[in-house]
Amino acid sequence: MGYEKLMTENRKPFGEIPFPCSACDAECCKFYTITLTAFDLFRLIEFCKRTDFLACKPVEEVRSKRDHPFFLTKKGKPGEYFLCLKRDEKEICFFYGGGHICLVHPARPLVCRIYPLTQKADSSITYKKKHRCPADWKMDAKTIGDAEEMIAQQDRELMGYGKFCREWNAKYSKSGSFAEFVDFMYRKGKDAVVMDEQKRILKTEKFHKLD
Ligand code: SF4
Ligand code: SF4
Repeated sequence: MGYEKLMTENRKPFGEIPFPCSACDAECCKFYTITLTAFDLFRLIEFCKRTDFLACKPVEEVRSKRDHPFFLTKKGKPGEYFLCLKRDEKEICFFYGGGHICLVHPARPLVCRIYPLTQKADSSITYKKKHRCPADWKMDAKTIGDAEEMIAQQDRELMGYGKFCREWNAKYSKSGSFAEFVDFMYRKGKDAVVMDEQKRILKTEKFHKLD
């Protein structure tokens, strides 16, 4: 699918936007830098057949503490980076289509699917009340069940991505370009994901017991 087609065909909500997001002006899409794993990268490239939405951000410019950094040497200078979605000059996500529209909704990153829900140390699900999200979330059984499933998947994917980053850092950090990093992670993601029955949202079944 070409990018123009993506922009026109996907400029509509994918199904009904559930409350409370339907009553919000997509505050999260206009504020956060979205960090990605190899699995998010693979799902997004498969969905939109492009790579120009990817950004390589120095770690000091990103607030994330969970994601894994990788190393690149640019113009002879080594640096530590996060893999992110591009943002425009107003700091809005590259894929934000206005209103309640995410242009890549079926393949959106896991962090977008989970936000603002989070898991406490005792494993119970709650939401980040002091974050950007203005909504009061109703923590019903379905919301909690979905969040538990997605957070477990995110944990697996972060473990796998951490392993890939360590491999990249050990082998290619002094010689590899960002384009080569993207290709490396695409191939790693492709090897590890399993398509669901709609062939859109992809799941990872590996990486339960990585060191
Ligand atoms: S998660 Fe929160 S900030 Fe994001 S669209 Fe939904 S209500 Fe708005
Ligand atoms: S990928 Fe979609 S859901 Fe995630 S921040 Fe961008 S527009 Fe919002």
